[in-house]
Amino acid sequence: MFELDDFLGQQHAQDLYRARITCEGMQGPLQICDGKQYLSFCSNDYLGLAADPRVAKTLREGTEQYGVGSGAAHLINGHTSAHHALEEELAEFTGRERALLFSTGYMANLGVMSALLARNDEVVADKLVHASLLDAAKLSGANLRRYQHVDMITLASRLEKQQSARRLVVTDGVFSMDGDIAPLPKMIKLLNGEKNTAILLDDAHGMGVLGEQGRGCVEYFDCNSDVDILMGTLGKAFGTFGAFVAGSEALIETLIQSARSYIFTTAMPAAIAEATRASLKIVQNENDRREKLQSLITQFRIGAQQLGFHLMDSMTPIQPLVVGDAEKATKMSKALAEKGILVSAIRPPTVPVGTARLRITLSAAHDETQVDKLLLALASLT
Ligand code: PMP
Repeated sequence: MFELDDFLGQQHAQDLYRARITCEGMQGPLQICDGKQYLSFCSNDYLGLAADPRVAKTLREGTEQYGVGSGAAHLINGHTSAHHALEEELAEFTGRERALLFSTGYMANLGVMSALLARNDEVVADKLVHASLLDAAKLSGANLRRYQHVDMITLASRLEKQQSARRLVVTDGVFSMDGDIAPLPKMIKLLNGEKNTAILLDDAHGMGVLGEQGRGCVEYFDCNSDVDILMGTLGKAFGTFGAFVAGSEALIETLIQSARSYIFTTAMPAAIAEATRASLKIVQNENDRREKLQSLITQFRIGAQQLGFHLMDSMTPIQPLVVGDAEKATKMSKALAEKGILVSAIRPPTVPVGTARLRITLSAAHDETQVDKLLLALASLT
């Protein structure tokens, strides 16, 4: 076997060692983890649907109808009428010709880039895009060029000369560790409908949350028709599991023919697709969840500013407090845990060195009193 202890020792020494906590019961503001009850502010269950009884009931009914496992890949015999119906409903929800389910968002990103790009093509990505988009670019063999975070001047300079047959501009909609929103209208203007250039929007954290009907960043900016490839995940605001890509008929057929992370993997369980159909209805119909979430975000921001915390430019449920070094972030997360508040410390390489942070996330399942408790606990750290 290989010598691994040096690496593990270094991780410890630099406060970068990652350890899991073991949680009991359902996702929700109150969770028992490692035997202790916490008030949790670290989940991506933004609309509080992960434990919604209606979604859970549909999942149970789905297992009665379809069993547990899907048994095979979509292209063999794992694709059921539940998957198909969800794809059609997601296409309608996103206002696109087609949608295609993937088992995870990570795999969706790998699938899109490896199917559409080849060596010598180009990926132009925001500096802070999600790891799965970087891995996808690597896997595709395309040249990866980065621009400064949400900076249109460096994006423009990267776009100046097209050096490749195809060029894919890639961004998170809502940045997962910062909570800010990509300036899509400006990006679209810069791209100016150029041939052989397309945008891939990873809206893992915007879908369900932003826009009046939860259609995400494209609804928020009213720019749906200008975003060529839309990726959304189902394990966050939708409260279930999996992901989808939505776009034109030709895009989806191309992915079915050649996205390896679609072709060579087992389809998500049909019951999960059924449960997601139930959560999609809730996402569309229950605007009050988004309204409540926004009011909790405002409450948190006002309170944290009064305490003197420097907040990031985020009006989304992701409200990071950047503290700088990894050791400090870890200490603060531990101090909050001692007070019964669960907030994770996010450290390099997930975020750039020197920008370790507490990643606080809010959910429509929280209430005002719970946000007050978080603020009180934060006050004791200052
Ligand atoms: N994109 C972004 C921006 C994400 O934050 C994540 C997950 N944290 C993913 C993709 C991957 O999605 P999944 O968890 O479904 O693999």
